[in-house]
Amino acid sequence: MDFSTHPFSLCIEEERCDLVMQLFGFDPVVVSKFESVGDLLSVFLNRRYYPDLVSLEQIRKLGTRTAFPDKLPWHSVMDYWDHEKVETIIRDIYLSEDDAINALKPSQRFRIHLAFQKDMFACEYVEQPYSYPHPVLEANDDIGRTFSDLSDHIRVKEKVKQEQAMYKAGCRIADAQNVYMPKQAQYWFTEPQDLIMWLLRYVMEHDKYIKKCEFCGRYFVPKRNTKKYCSEACANTQRDLDSFCGVQEAKQLYKRIVSNLRDKGQRMKDLQLPYHRPDAPGDWIKPQEVLKAFYAENAEYMNDLRNAYESAKKAPAPTEDQVRAFETAKATYVDWLQVQYEYATSLELDRDAYFRPD
Ligand SMILES: [Zn+2]
Repeated sequence: MDFSTHPFSLCIEEERCDLVMQLFGFDPVVVSKFESVGDLLSVFLNRRYYPDLVSLEQIRKLGTRTAFPDKLPWHSVMDYWDHEKVETIIRDIYLSEDDAINALKPSQRFRIHLAFQKDMFACEYVEQPYSYPHPVLEANDDIGRTFSDLSDHIRVKEKVKQEQAMYKAGCRIADAQNVYMPKQAQYWFTEPQDLIMWLLRYVMEHDKYIKKCEFCGRYFVPKRNTKKYCSEACANTQRDLDSFCGVQEAKQLYKRIVSNLRDKGQRMKDLQLPYHRPDAPGDWIKPQEVLKAFYAENAEYMNDLRNAYESAKKAPAPTEDQVRAFETAKATYVDWLQVQYEYATSLELDRDAYFRPD
């Protein structure tokens, strides 16, 4: 099997999963390592190939200098799969509100789903007939060398006997050195569509859950089924949001400001590019600093809102003044958030900048 016909090679080793790609138009092979198959699947579902799949460092190795890695042709190659159909399957199997569906384990739901719709899962792949535990042997020079030296040291005329003798010696080394040979399998795919269907099937058959983060809406496959958020950062922000005194508008604005600045902060860090300050052209500012100042000021506004809320909404029979005070605090806070939102979105990436030499 080679990359000319099958540009995607997937290697599963216990929980770990490596993806090797030889993308059209690019010479070097890009490798990404994931903690689990579910983590790799999430990258596709969220369609964040950059930077979740290919880092900036890897793009640099490809010899491409760009401030917009997510506009490179490889990005659209990766994104060439049927989003709508895949999302429908995920909705049917994982995001249903039907108790009868949710009572079953994912693998059972999948089996039943297959009884009615199977076309999408007829994906093509080639499984490597054997695998060789490179990572284990490469990780330990001594053992790796001992293994490869076996053929020099064991000389038996007959080929089959030679192999048997080497196998026996290999087992002896593994036992003596306490080497654990992990279960490993390798699969080759032609199209991203086949790859994503394979990943999806793997996740379902292993009874893993696919969830949508209740804060940012990204897909994720948690280690434990009770998780609601894709990351610690999202869980923390949600905790803040829970104290919004039921003002949905404020909640949404807050959410947008934070995710806008957080994304820009990450992007700036990745690209090492400055952001322009709209009020002082030529000067630049870190989105992280804007976020920090926002949090500090927000705490004060939130405090005012909470005080008004507690006296108005929690009282058994709030007075008109109390209701009016809450409405005023609410309006003041939402107005302030609106201004913050406009400022956050006005921060722009410096498009003329280029990578600093390493
Ligand atoms: Zn999230």
